[in-house]
Amino acid sequence: MRAILLREHGGPEVLKVEEVPDPQAGPGQAVVRVRACALNHLDIWVRKGLPGAPFHLPTISGADISGDIHALGEGVSGWHVGDPVMVAPGVSCGACARCQEGLDHLCSSYGILGETQNGGLAELVCVPAVNLFAKPARLSYADAASMSLSFLTAWHMLVGRAQLKRGESVLVHAGGSGVGSCAVQIAKYLGAQVITTAGSESKLQLAKELGADETINYREEDFVKRVKAITEKRGVDVVFEHVGGEVFERSLRCLAWAGRLVTCGATTGIDAKVNLRHLFFKSQSILGSTMGSRREFQQLVSLFETGHFRSVIDRIIPMEEIADAHRAIEAREVFGKVVISP
Ligand code: ZN
Repeated sequence: MRAILLREHGGPEVLKVEEVPDPQAGPGQAVVRVRACALNHLDIWVRKGLPGAPFHLPTISGADISGDIHALGEGVSGWHVGDPVMVAPGVSCGACARCQEGLDHLCSSYGILGETQNGGLAELVCVPAVNLFAKPARLSYADAASMSLSFLTAWHMLVGRAQLKRGESVLVHAGGSGVGSCAVQIAKYLGAQVITTAGSESKLQLAKELGADETINYREEDFVKRVKAITEKRGVDVVFEHVGGEVFERSLRCLAWAGRLVTCGATTGIDAKVNLRHLFFKSQSILGSTMGSRREFQQLVSLFETGHFRSVIDRIIPMEEIADAHRAIEAREVFGKVVISP
């Protein structure tokens, strides 16, 4: 098969399309013919390599996969060759206490397709059969691939961790970004008042179309002041954070009493100051979050089925254009998901 193989860490030029052996489905596994694989920031991290967190090389990245079942391993039932599927991106042991409880994202051997094992930037990918979900017929392969990881991340943050409720208010940072655009839609679906920031008018417009009640251009306005004005000094019940650094510090100032800040990332910096007096005196919470469980993924697929959420796709490209796609993502030139069609 053809695959985008990463033999060494480095710039976008290290991504090469190569001929490699087809994967074989072992017991409990399935091989999926990839129709679409969407890129995430994770793909950039895997390409660059993280200090102290070595990735196995050579590797094939790509966590967001949809396609058709190509082959089934021993002991897999309920599926047929040719079935259209989307693939849950998280992989766990399936045997430990947390996996048994349905908290597979907290398994000590938890990994992500395209990070800890070969992913979907290839014509074929081998995945655990428990990760297969029937692709909702109303979604194209590109839509289905674009929705997996970012919706799962946003859903677990808002529902599993922050427990956002109807009638509450939420500040979503970067409502025009991959995970931010999902958070806006989920928060609206949950019945919250949605305030979002973005750095351009086109992204603010997108956030409005996805359901944001109030939008703030963070390049032109102080988002803390605007949030205080919109909420009549009360602050918001939940902040959806994935930026880090100084944005994290200022986000804490937007929180109401008993407010929850939930974070899944720190693209601008991993260090932040916390005013502990405010935190304890106002009974506020800071919550960390990564990915989500397969049970939550199942809930999301049901909501995709009924047309509650939509994907935002910037472009669909062949494997050969992968390096340019990485450059565009790093330069923040994309508006929605970049999807590879092998
Ligand atoms: Zn486990």
